[in-house]
Amino acid sequence: MHYISYMAIRCFLLSMVAVMLFCASAWAQEAQKPNIVIIGTGGTIAGVGKSNANVSAYQSAVLPIDTLIKALPEITNIANIKMEQIFQMGSESFNNERLLKLTRRVSELLKSKEVDGVVITHGTDTMEETSYFLNLTIKSEKPVVLVGAMRPASALSADGPLNIYNAVIVVAHKDSAGKGTLIVMNDEIHAARDVTKTSSVKIETFRSLYGPLGTIVEGTPRYYRLPARPHTIQSEFDIDAIDTLPEVNVVYAHENMSRVPYDALVAAGTKAIIHMGVGNGSVADYITDALKEVRAKGVFVVRATRTGGGIVVRNGEINDDQNDYIVTDDQNPAKARILMALALTKTTNTKELQEIFWKY
Ligand code: GLU
Repeated sequence: MHYISYMAIRCFLLSMVAVMLFCASAWAQEAQKPNIVIIGTGGTIAGVGKSNANVSAYQSAVLPIDTLIKALPEITNIANIKMEQIFQMGSESFNNERLLKLTRRVSELLKSKEVDGVVITHGTDTMEETSYFLNLTIKSEKPVVLVGAMRPASALSADGPLNIYNAVIVVAHKDSAGKGTLIVMNDEIHAARDVTKTSSVKIETFRSLYGPLGTIVEGTPRYYRLPARPHTIQSEFDIDAIDTLPEVNVVYAHENMSRVPYDALVAAGTKAIIHMGVGNGSVADYITDALKEVRAKGVFVVRATRTGGGIVVRNGEINDDQNDYIVTDDQNPAKARILMALALTKTTNTKELQEIFWKY
């Protein structure tokens, strides 16, 4: 009898030790994994079509972030995941207010010792603008990755799940720190400054003029380039110091264009107009006076190109010094709008504004 109870107690104690060892090792494994927050904002990645054959016609921003992540149990092997739904919308609906709200939340999360990085699911349409803003205003070296999809979650060969998986892999990897805000799509890692959406439907829509920073192969990010321009902790812009963004708008130039958009924007109180000029940011002879009047009324004129590539040459075809214009360097008009709005929070001196465009 004594012997039996001694054996029972011994078995019980041994099994308790085994459970404790198991729990300790599971806890150690959890503790070793990075803590990543995934913020949902909507987009095609959360979209649903009528049938799985609908790859380009569907409703975006339908599924909540936790539904998308639940379908991806693999990512819990890489990181400890928390989720937040900050918006549920198409990214075309981002405005300054929503951009500031998202950026403030990312900044707040990254200040916490409990957070090692952030993934943001985002519509692809304006992802390049949101990511550039984060790239310039977040004061942290911790990785931030924006990810989206070109096919809705319900589609045959939906690209969202693998894109999210890759985004988590990139944020979790030590090599991703200090590279500014990144966009992960289609197995590629792009720098926020340089990347642009180039096709309304293709899976391989995101292109960087000078190439992606790296690629993801079998669950490992491989980097081949570094961002050349200042970002995050080297940037002079800080989300904590920005209450509102000044109004900056873009006007698209074409043959037989009208001066009405310029006059209307000035009347509405815009602080700067990005002239999305043809070729080298050129200005039609019948628009020249309109732009001079814009500047004379205190509104800045920034010359950009609608070509999709190349720099706008200062004092080339147009005398920018004489007209007190700014040129964008190589920046696309949508991102020039972001940079100009940030620049105007620092200075209203044309020379200094131009220096900001050369620098960033
Ligand atoms: N227009 C939507 C958006 O930008 C869907 C496009 C997409 O996510 O690819 O959110």
